[in-house]
Amino acid sequence: MRSADLEGWAEDFSYDYYRTLLETLRTTFELRTLSEYRPDRSPDERVAFVRHDVDVCLERAVEMAELEHELGVRSTYMVLPDTPLYDLEEERDLLHLIHEFGHEIALHCDLSDVEPDEPVDRDGLAPSERRRVDAAGRYLEELGIDPVASVSFHRPSERVLEGSRTIAGMVNAYNPDLLSAYISDSSGRWREGEPLGSVIANADADRLQVLTHPVWWGAEHEPPLERFAAVADRFDATDPQTYEELVSIYAPYSERVDADRILA
Ligand SMILES: [Zn+2]
Repeated sequence: MRSADLEGWAEDFSYDYYRTLLETLRTTFELRTLSEYRPDRSPDERVAFVRHDVDVCLERAVEMAELEHELGVRSTYMVLPDTPLYDLEEERDLLHLIHEFGHEIALHCDLSDVEPDEPVDRDGLAPSERRRVDAAGRYLEELGIDPVASVSFHRPSERVLEGSRTIAGMVNAYNPDLLSAYISDSSGRWREGEPLGSVIANADADRLQVLTHPVWWGAEHEPPLERFAAVADRFDATDPQTYEELVSIYAPYSERVDADRILA
């Protein structure tokens, strides 16, 4: 798959564009972190939730966190306790730095390799999945992130999408109320089109969730493959687990790695 095959808008992933996006959001919406989500609402309320799934690299997340802090914006950074790509324990200083910028740190949980057993509980989780979520939350708390109050799923299955409002007591980023108006830069493109236009088109929504992945963003615009490779090339892609993780996050990267292998 080539990046050109992914449909969507990928013209500007510069921090200047991101600042404009935040400023535009703020003219219409009150920005809150995910744990500040409440199901009840008043008639004139317009709330946007800016969420970041940190799939690849904490350094890029810190840059974004600082940029938002300078604008007085608070958002939610969802981190993976168990990924081949970064180690929260080794990089806990970065994690705490994001927190000190005023942001919420929350759980990005990967259930894609868990064999679900029966029966599912009232949150829609099988017992094996529940154990994974609970352990992941405890791990973050051991790193000094307390309380862990929100969760999003990495590589979510259909079953966990549109799930219950809370999961294991945490706000579920994929609850229907937070998905009714939702734009995201997954796979390095805004599937719904240019995000500034989407924010304006959703100005009547009382809830809007904006998901970004810090890995796509930088001081100057770069196309997604180059931006991704700048981080991904640091990893040892001959390790199968690492390779699989990188390619699951951005399929076009496989071409680059496979080409390298042929040339080698
Ligand atoms: Zn993810």
